[in-house]
Amino acid sequence: MDLPHQNDRVAWLRGPSAKCSKLPANLKSHWRLILLGAPGVGKGTQAALLALRSGACHLSTGDVFREAKSRSIREQTLAMSTALNFMTHGSLVPDAIVWQLIRERVGCLQCPRGFILDGFPRTLAQAGALKLLLESEGLALDAVVNYELPAAEIVSRLSGRRTCANCKAVFHLAAQPPHFAGVCDHCGGVLYQREDDRQESIAVRLEAYERSTAPLIEFYRRAGLLTPVIATGEPEQICARTFAALEMRPQIGVAERQAANTAMVAP
Ligand code: AMP
Repeated sequence: MDLPHQNDRVAWLRGPSAKCSKLPANLKSHWRLILLGAPGVGKGTQAALLALRSGACHLSTGDVFREAKSRSIREQTLAMSTALNFMTHGSLVPDAIVWQLIRERVGCLQCPRGFILDGFPRTLAQAGALKLLLESEGLALDAVVNYELPAAEIVSRLSGRRTCANCKAVFHLAAQPPHFAGVCDHCGGVLYQREDDRQESIAVRLEAYERSTAPLIEFYRRAGLLTPVIATGEPEQICARTFAALEMRPQIGVAERQAANTAMVAP
């Protein structure tokens, strides 16, 4: 059965020694996007839909941590087990560990499919480091999509979310239930509630978002890259809204995009 992503993303999930198995035949675009928004706003679902439609690769830092978590303790590095401890409690993983993970996967940013970054960057320090890395690799961002949703809806989305242990597809107990309770529609895998989606972790994550990640909205607005999208409604509606917002962006060339990226300065 097809996965909700167009390739297995193994180079991203497992690191550069692994090779992705399948590239899409009809590469329509090679977008380079960042998705921003509070936890639970639906970035992961939208990243998967956008990846499916555009051919760009869905690069989620949270998925890398969850993939590492599914391996035995002996297979985890000290940095990774430290990261997983932060993640389990809903806190942000320290920038240095996240940055090491990104540096190791710089080949994924160079992928001819393009990329959709989901969950990274999450702090101004990460955004500044990414800006320098993209510049040094000669890569330019196309847009930074910011998903907007009222706080009450965010909490309900997080507490009802269930994730497939196998293919990472996301469901919701009320809004997007699977056909059979506890079973993934795409691959038959077991659905589970992420530890960081439990009530006690949700407050910690929302506080971390307000303190550390929300300032990125202004950072990317100043760079002329911010594309706001209202995240209410069904996933397909939000996806269509995202495409419309991206298409309405002024069509700028590579030189202008590079200039816009270079103009990004930390406040
Ligand atoms: P996500 O799936 O993007 O919600 O990420 C799940 C968890 O992984 C977060 O709550 C953090 O603990 C950790 N995490 C993922 N990406 C980052 C990042 N860029 N910086 C710090 N922590 C992260």
